[in-house]
Amino acid sequence: MVTKAKEKTNVWQMAQGQLDQVAEIMNLDPNIHRILRKPARELTVNFPVIMDDGRVEVFTGHRVQHSTHRGPGKGGIRYHPDVDLDEVRALAMWMTWKTAVVGIPYGGAKGGVVVDPKKLSMRELERLTRRYATEINIIIGPEKDIPAPDVYTNPQVMSWIMDTISMDRGYTVSGVVTGKPLALGGSLGRNEATAQGCIYVIQEAVQKIGLDLEDSVSVVQGFGNAGYIAAYLLKEQGSKVIAVSDSKGGIINEKGLDAHAVSKYKAETGSVVGFPGSEPISNEALLELKCDILVPAALENVITRDNASKIKAKIIAEAANGPTTPEADAILTENNIMILPDILANAGGVTVSYFEWVQDLANFFWSLGQVNERLSCIMKESFHSVYEIHKKYNVNMRLAAYVLAVGRVAEALKLRGIYP
Ligand code: NAD
Repeated sequence: MVTKAKEKTNVWQMAQGQLDQVAEIMNLDPNIHRILRKPARELTVNFPVIMDDGRVEVFTGHRVQHSTHRGPGKGGIRYHPDVDLDEVRALAMWMTWKTAVVGIPYGGAKGGVVVDPKKLSMRELERLTRRYATEINIIIGPEKDIPAPDVYTNPQVMSWIMDTISMDRGYTVSGVVTGKPLALGGSLGRNEATAQGCIYVIQEAVQKIGLDLEDSVSVVQGFGNAGYIAAYLLKEQGSKVIAVSDSKGGIINEKGLDAHAVSKYKAETGSVVGFPGSEPISNEALLELKCDILVPAALENVITRDNASKIKAKIIAEAANGPTTPEADAILTENNIMILPDILANAGGVTVSYFEWVQDLANFFWSLGQVNERLSCIMKESFHSVYEIHKKYNVNMRLAAYVLAVGRVAEALKLRGIYP
């Protein structure tokens, strides 16, 4: 999982600001706007964990449900020393928009624990996870709010949460979390889902700008779950991936890179840097390479007002969350670069999480072909819905995605009315 990049400058204010901007464009009912500006439910827990040496440490965790108007809350759990309530609020709000853009029946939620998990033993991590799960048990469940992995949490952590909730209820509750291992009700295709979804969206986007993937050149920043898989799927589609990178730096080969071979090299040496036949390139220079498709798949805030005007890609497909700042957005739009925004481009992950939940509830599991066919349908339809708004209202693809998402949540909220 990714380490956090730069200082998170009040992400919650940024998330609220985005909503305000969209509310204005779409003339959103001010009552609905007021409701959506605040998370519906926030739970903060301070809980003790017995460490291996017998000391007791008290950790702070949060679970925020921004909206459950379209269905149960959905969103990951992050373990990181920088977690704070404002960040969790912002991430929860973004989940509301992401699930709405792809039209899956969820709201948005997010959780986090302030901890550096690298400093914990396996046993400590398990005790912390089980206690945190117990603390938030009152608000999560398959019909209430379904967590998933995020930064520094993984299928093992999900397994412990699933087991803890199951112990409490007295029976196995597979659908309480997604991102579980296959042996516990996980879904085929979940591991590749984010990158696969991103590729489906890119396939539609290239047609709109008259580009042939077979003749295209791509660059991928970040070589983890999202980036590595995006790189090899792009190559499978005929695109020449000339540069990739990780936290240690980037590599370039104008003739194209074989992502599988690079991945093998990274597994052996710890980095893509030094891959035989490639030249080194910095992460900054990589973003400015002449290419058709740029896939930021690492950190937030990498495309900023400082480098946006130097970006030469025709399409930016945001596999990462929040790689582009609002100032950069304006410059890219001015330069006619098509942005496939994070809430659309990386929504394949949450979509297959939804499939996992559906399979768990039905106790009936799908083949990989079925998963990918349904994922393709949802991603492509979502792209076209966003594209239509982009054309109709003459707004960039990010704003269009927000207009679509906020509109769907607002419609649900309006139909449900205000209780009592
Ligand atoms: P990961 O940890 O598997 O991989 C991250 C990669 O980024 C690693 O190769 C790492 O070396 C690299 N990296 C770290 N710092 C870097 C830097 N300064 N410059 C260049 N590369 C750097 O993480 P991931 O799951 O692939 O997530 C990547 C991004 O995609 C994140 O923004 C995440 O929120 C987003 N995302 C992931 C998923 C998913 O299902 N994995 C879903 C939605 C969004």
